[in-house]
Amino acid sequence: MNASVYFTRQQARDPHLLVVGGGPAGSSFALFALDYAQRAGIDLQVTIFEPRDFTRPGPWGCNMGAGLIPVRMLQHLAEIDVTVPPHVIRNHISSYTLHTAAGQIHLPQPDPVGDVIGVYRGNGPRNGPDWGTCISFDHFLLQAAQERGAQVIHERVTHISLSPHTFVATREGRYTGSLVVLATGVNSGGLETEGLDYQPPRRSKMAQVELFLGEELVEERLQGSVHIVLPQNNQLKFGTLVPKGPCINVSLLGGDLPSGSVERFLQLPEVRSVLPEGVQNRACGCRPYISVGAARPLYADRFVAIGDAGITRLYKNGIGTGLRTARRAAFTAINYGTT
Ligand SMILES: Cc1cc2nc3c(=O)[nH]c(=O)nc-3n(C[C@H](O)[C@H](O)[C@H](O)COP(=O)(O)OP(=O)(O)OC[C@H]3O[C@@H](n4cnc5c(N)ncnc54)[C@H](O)[C@@H]3O)c2cc1C
Repeated sequence: MNASVYFTRQQARDPHLLVVGGGPAGSSFALFALDYAQRAGIDLQVTIFEPRDFTRPGPWGCNMGAGLIPVRMLQHLAEIDVTVPPHVIRNHISSYTLHTAAGQIHLPQPDPVGDVIGVYRGNGPRNGPDWGTCISFDHFLLQAAQERGAQVIHERVTHISLSPHTFVATREGRYTGSLVVLATGVNSGGLETEGLDYQPPRRSKMAQVELFLGEELVEERLQGSVHIVLPQNNQLKFGTLVPKGPCINVSLLGGDLPSGSVERFLQLPEVRSVLPEGVQNRACGCRPYISVGAARPLYADRFVAIGDAGITRLYKNGIGTGLRTARRAAFTAINYGTT
C-alpha cells in the first residue's frame, strides 16, 4: 500500500504521530517524518513531548554527553536542509590521542573524508561563560522541528497506551494518535505502559565534569585532539578529555564510579601530563547513564523505540545512531504505515 493511500484511509481517524522525548532522536524523527510526509502530499500532525528547557545552562537543560558528532552523521540532516549553525559548534576535532600502557599514540583524523564536531547538548556548563546566544544542539534540533510544523508540549509523558486506544498522557492532558515514538533515552524512568511490555536497554553509569580553562589553554594542552586514557590497574574502562571551546569535558566509564573517581582520574600521570598543574575550575558535572543494550520490543503495532530508548552503538556515536534510527523509523511510518 503506498503512503498516500494509507494516510488517506487513516486521515478520517487521526494521522497524528506522538513523539515522547525531544532529544536528538525525537526531534530528528519529527523533522524526517514532516519532510517525507510533505513529499508524499500527506497532511501530517506531529507532537513532541519534552519537559527539559534546553535554553538553560547546566544539568537542567542538558541531555548529558560529551557531544562529539561525526559530520558524516549530520549529512542525514543535510538531506532535508537542516544544517547545524556555526554558533552551536564548539570545536572541530582533528585527531585522537590514545594514552595506553604502551605509551602515547597520536592518530590524526582516522576518517580522511570525515570530521568530528563538538557541541553542548544544553546551553553550556552551569558555571560557564556567557555565550551571548543559545548554543544548545538539542535546542537547535527541537526548534527546527517546531519551525517545520511539529507541535512541542513541554511536559513529561507519564503513561503510554497502545490498546485498546493509542494515546499518551501527561499530568495535564491526554493525546490520541496513530503512532507512539519512544525517544526517551536511558536517563529517566517512571513511564507506565498499557498494551505494551517495554523493557528498556541495559545501561552503565558514567561520570562527567567540565573543566573551565579558557580557549587558549584548552587549545595549547589538547591541541584539537580527543585524548582517550586507558588506565592500567584501575576499574575504569576508559576516560576521555574532549576540547569544548573554553572547557575540557572529562568523561569516565567503568565500575560503580564511587565518589572521588574523577579526582583520582585527574591525578593519573597520563592525565596530569595533558592538563595544567592544579586545574580545579569545575564548571559543571553530572553522573548520567549510557545505553549498553537493546530494548525489547524495538517496534510493535503503532509503536517504535528510537535512539537510546531503542538500540545504539556501544560507547560510540549515540547521537548519530539516534539520527539514523529516527530517519529509518520516519521513512517506514510514512511510506509503509504504522500498524
Ligand atoms: C557521559 C556520556 C558521554 C557521551 N558522549 C557522547 C558523544 O560524545 N557523542 C555521542 O554521539 N554520544 C555520546 N553519548 C551518548 C549520547 O548522549 C546518547 O546516545 C544520545 O543522547 C541519545 O539521544 P536520544 O535522543 O536517544 O536520547 P536523549 O538524548 O537521552 O534524549 C531523551 C529525551 O527524552 C526526554 N524524556 C525522557 N523521559 C521523558 C518522558 N517521560 N516524557 C517526555 N520526554 C521525556 C528527555 O528529557 C530527553 O530530552 C554519551 C553519553 C554519556 C552518558
